[in-house]
Amino acid sequence: SKGLNVAEIRSKFPVLDQEVNGKPLAYFDNAATTQKPQEVLDALNEYYENHNSNIHRGAHTLAGRATDLFEKTRSSVRAFINAPSVEEVIFTKGTTDGINLVASTFGKTYIGAGDEVIISTMEHHSNIVPWQMLCETNKAVLKIIPVSDTGELDLQAYEELLSERTKLVAVVHASNALGTINPIKKMIQLAHDRGARFLVDGAQSLAHLDVDVQDLDCDFLTFSAHKLYGPTGVGVLYGKRELLEAMPPYQGGGEMIREVTFAKTTYNDIPYKFEAGTPNIADVVAFDAALAFIRSIGKKRIQEQENQLLAHAVELCSQINGFIPVGTAREKVSVMSFTIRNMHPFDVGMMLDAAGIAVRTGHHCTQPLMDRFGLEGTVRASFAVYNTNEEIDRLYESLVRIAKRKN
Ligand code: PMP
Repeated sequence: SKGLNVAEIRSKFPVLDQEVNGKPLAYFDNAATTQKPQEVLDALNEYYENHNSNIHRGAHTLAGRATDLFEKTRSSVRAFINAPSVEEVIFTKGTTDGINLVASTFGKTYIGAGDEVIISTMEHHSNIVPWQMLCETNKAVLKIIPVSDTGELDLQAYEELLSERTKLVAVVHASNALGTINPIKKMIQLAHDRGARFLVDGAQSLAHLDVDVQDLDCDFLTFSAHKLYGPTGVGVLYGKRELLEAMPPYQGGGEMIREVTFAKTTYNDIPYKFEAGTPNIADVVAFDAALAFIRSIGKKRIQEQENQLLAHAVELCSQINGFIPVGTAREKVSVMSFTIRNMHPFDVGMMLDAAGIAVRTGHHCTQPLMDRFGLEGTVRASFAVYNTNEEIDRLYESLVRIAKRKN
């Protein structure tokens, strides 16, 4: 697409430049985790080679530098999601950790017997199980928004599920299994009209879509750095200040306290109240380079490139005899989920791997969604900014060959 030099972008990703099973690697498992550009790898090395120190507590120079680098990423994240303040940006281990934090603190405190939590059929297990655990412990009720045949949420059913007893709605912004982009801004407004809070699972949206927490007016947003060209082991929880300040701490330990005595311990201010112990400093520091990488291209151009790739893939693959798309929503991120008639998704994945093509197969941690479609799993090709039409042509050609065996 105009102005986007994909060859130049690819050259920043050393891992892409290799052969797998004798064929050039075509990496289409980006919804599981994206590859990391050289800037991120360099930032990790640079941190350990020159600055490594524990943050926040030291009087010495290296500790000050490490702290500054760590807090610099917090500022970048604030800008990235347009949070009102850096205090509302909490570092976690990932999306899963962020959701568990909210369930264990906000949930434990404010969601009681007979209260209701609403999630949807298309949630990742990490946005199902913490709420099931909470509802079981606190005797609350879990309600589920149904999904249509095209893989979209039934908004009418959602409105009917909302009640005076709804305390929290937790819904995925973009589905990892289908790619569906949910109309969360409208959904948040509807929840707020009933006095309910709203958590957005942004694991799959931040790499593709502009996300502005003030525009959305979401109460919580969680995402993972590793799905947006950053390192593993780092995530972000954004929460509105008044909620974070009222919520009890998640874990107890160093850094999250103001004063500890055996008589009484007082807690630190946000965000530190939720960051007990030594965090994943190096990976947080390197995450800043991933955000800079995204900024340098721009979300709009990333989206254009990915939409083009998705359209090309769908157009080609739809011609294959036995190709069955799963999830045909109008608004999608660059995920193509499908099955091949008469074939097990895992076998399709193995044959693609033999051709150097990396896809994910299985239930994608969305078993209730697979049940909804009467499937055990799908094959999922998910595209990132560094993928090319030539790679998609190879996917198509391989799928033609594979599908022919049983169709
Ligand atoms: N939600 C969604 C929609 C996801 O795609 C994922 C990752 N597959 C998660 C939550 C969990 O993210 P993580 O494993 O990074 O905690």
